[in-house]
Amino acid sequence: MYQDVQERTIVALSTPVGTGGIAVIRLSGPEAIRIAQKAFVSARGKRLDQVPSHRAVFGQMQDQGEVIDEVLVLVMRGPHSFTGEDTVEINCHGGMYICQRIIEALIACGASMAEPGEFSKRAFLNGRMDLSEAEAVMDMISAQTAYSLKAAVNQLSGGFSRKVEALRQQLIDTIVAIEVNIDYPEYEDLPEITDDSIIQNCRQVLDQIDELLATAESGRMLKQGVKVAIVGQPNVGKSSLLNLLLREQRAIVTDVAGTTRDVLEERLDLGGIPLRIMDTAGIRKTDDIVEKIGVERALEAAKESDLVLLVLDAGRAVTPEELELLELVRKRPYLLVLNKTDLSENGVAPEPVTQLIGEPELERVLVSMSAKQETGVAELTDKVKELFFAGDVLTSDKPLVTNLRQKEALLRARQALQMVLASQQREQDLLVIDIRQACDALSDAQGRSTQEDVVNEIFSRFCLGK
Ligand code: GDP
Repeated sequence: MYQDVQERTIVALSTPVGTGGIAVIRLSGPEAIRIAQKAFVSARGKRLDQVPSHRAVFGQMQDQGEVIDEVLVLVMRGPHSFTGEDTVEINCHGGMYICQRIIEALIACGASMAEPGEFSKRAFLNGRMDLSEAEAVMDMISAQTAYSLKAAVNQLSGGFSRKVEALRQQLIDTIVAIEVNIDYPEYEDLPEITDDSIIQNCRQVLDQIDELLATAESGRMLKQGVKVAIVGQPNVGKSSLLNLLLREQRAIVTDVAGTTRDVLEERLDLGGIPLRIMDTAGIRKTDDIVEKIGVERALEAAKESDLVLLVLDAGRAVTPEELELLELVRKRPYLLVLNKTDLSENGVAPEPVTQLIGEPELERVLVSMSAKQETGVAELTDKVKELFFAGDVLTSDKPLVTNLRQKEALLRARQALQMVLASQQREQDLLVIDIRQACDALSDAQGRSTQEDVVNEIFSRFCLGK
């Protein structure tokens, strides 16, 4: 199905570009060991094609006799390697020039430069992992917080694929039972599959698909970050809150636009949850502009974000405009940040707010804080977790749906099963058609039967050297 270029032996730097203590250059393909041997001289006269798999050899990389660097070379024979092919990893000193020279020497010996994502693509093509797992590798690399990483690791360990496979198997068993009965009606001792048990099987699978789909929002937010809008009247402490959050978080090293002042979005790590604070330029704008666009912006922000933080000033009475804002943001997930509690005696929400939303809702949304005294971040973290990651989503090892491709495939499977459930009067051989469709959709969710162009698209988003 896939057009293949696997006779090429590919090479790339697999550690980040830049200067580091060490760097790893990876070679993969049928000629990997032979090509590495051409540019390598072992300190003890060993030949790479004779060392056992997964053994490191110390020596020098040379370019036509000239020493480039002292290196440690690790030989891994297929299929026991990441790509499933013969692989050689060269641990060299982490200077850009050194890496470049070594890669050039290997290319001169017959390797070709890898395309972005090509190592992972080969791992997929060689059956070392399915597409969901390959995507998980990419997610792990780009994970910026503890929980994002955990979700990616879960995905990589194949939890999602295994779960989906079990569901698919259940449907296949149903199809086989139906077909056997249709094809061999003369065998009377075959257990007959009743319409009821078909329906029951499909319903069971459907319920579990729904359970998986219910994790899609949490999965998306862990992967992409929870989009947060901070809104409120001038001077309530919006930018102080933003600054506090930025100070308290573990620094996120990122090249995503978001580290300079006039950017639209700031990414941060709130207790392991990735947040994307939207429109930070707006938050920092001078008050008169904010005043003019306050309500409009709140509306706009509420539409585009996952979470609205409405900030109130505990040091003064709540205004009619603030109540109006509250009514607007209530339609979406929101938290009410009562800031400047150092200025109020008890820090409870003002009476009109309680009247408007009632005690139970207040309990759920209220976060008391003082940006000045730097209190309340832990409470904010807890409330965000309650809101979006209820139950054991963050702590369990249950699979999460973390990408749109999986979600759409699951929705298709769901739709096909609903057809089965809706059509109880039909002949069993017609039901099989829908059940089969559900099976195909589940295969797609795992990334088994995915079309070549989709595969290429996905792997091209990987970075070079992966
Ligand atoms: P924004 O206009 O909503 O972004 O508000 P700012 O963050 O600029 O804060 C407005 C004023 O309130 C500044 O003088 C802050 O120092 C002050 N402020 C912010 N948070 C607190 C707080 O928790 N307690 C007190 N006492 N003052 C605060």
